[in-house]
Amino acid sequence: MKAYNFNAGPCVLPKQAIESAIEAIRDFDNTGIGILEISHRTPGWERIMAETEQLWRELLNIPDDYAVMFLGGGASTQFFEVPANLMKTKAAYLQTGVWAKKAAKEAKFYGEVEIVASSEDKTYSYIPKGYTIPTDVDYFHITTNNTIYGTEIHEDIDSPVTLVADMSSDIMSRPVDVTKYGMIYGGAQKNVGPAGVTFVIVRKDLLGNTGRPIQTMVDYRTHYTEEAKNRSMFNTPPVFPIFVMHETLKWVKEQGGLEAMYKINKEKAELLYNEIDRNPLFVGTAAKEDRSLMNVCFVMAPGHEALQDEFFKFAKERGMVGIKGHRSVGGFRASIYNACPKEAVEALVACMQEFEKLHK
Ligand SMILES: *Cc1c(COP(=O)(O)O)cnc(C)c1O
Repeated sequence: MKAYNFNAGPCVLPKQAIESAIEAIRDFDNTGIGILEISHRTPGWERIMAETEQLWRELLNIPDDYAVMFLGGGASTQFFEVPANLMKTKAAYLQTGVWAKKAAKEAKFYGEVEIVASSEDKTYSYIPKGYTIPTDVDYFHITTNNTIYGTEIHEDIDSPVTLVADMSSDIMSRPVDVTKYGMIYGGAQKNVGPAGVTFVIVRKDLLGNTGRPIQTMVDYRTHYTEEAKNRSMFNTPPVFPIFVMHETLKWVKEQGGLEAMYKINKEKAELLYNEIDRNPLFVGTAAKEDRSLMNVCFVMAPGHEALQDEFFKFAKERGMVGIKGHRSVGGFRASIYNACPKEAVEALVACMQEFEKLHK
């Protein structure tokens, strides 16, 4: 049976990236040796590293005064590496979900944290508005897409202080004005690759200013020395995840880059949200204006709650995988990242319509 993958992360990747990865495991770069077995200090690998960075710079239009790094540890490790590198005394956080809350928690190890606004009162179903970003802070931290709740900050906001963004789950889904951010980071496993590699984009002049000593591996400056050789190669990089990221970004570029991705992502999301709004059996959980293009959260409409388990079963029989909502929201979540084909969204919509007919 055909499986439609709606997992939230790790999640669907482009088929051609998977095919190249399989081939590279057998034989990397015509060396006769597989990528899992080769030294990261070989020319073929150094080329992949350089190309991967180049793809990031090209797709996101990243200026030269920003460093681009590929590290280990996941976005969760960045929750403390961000304040370790950027916080002198105080930082501000926008609390739009548990990831944002976890990020703020780690920042408290390094200084004062101000929660500028929070949507915890309504299970993070909206993005707070009308807050004022304090100017006496070293940076303002946001989470652009709230993977669990299906809300998203759709614009690159103007901040009077350095803006830091966790873009784990919407990076490369739309064009971003990188110059509005001091730093952008995230785990690759939602939209740019498999689990195991973390991307960090940071403006270089922001580094080395905390006045605190910092461990070598935690210091971003360790990972981007100017000689191409040491780019994210201070220690052994996550070779295989970076390779798959390289192939994934090549695919993004072939699709036409981020403008093209954004267009198709909007079409896919509209298709699914329209069905949720039309179908009397379902209702969306996120505030309409804040609806995520990546994670679509919905539940059974009032009066139809008892049908939830039946719909799970019904959808499963039709090949839908990974549509269970996070336990804090309940119901359903369809993650429709870049590599999720429109055909999968159409199949889910058809499934919801069929289910409606059964229960008319
Ligand atoms: C998944 C996710 C994280 C956690 O990422 P890890 O790489 O597992 O540490 C952090 N922030 C957001 C927005 C996420 O979606």
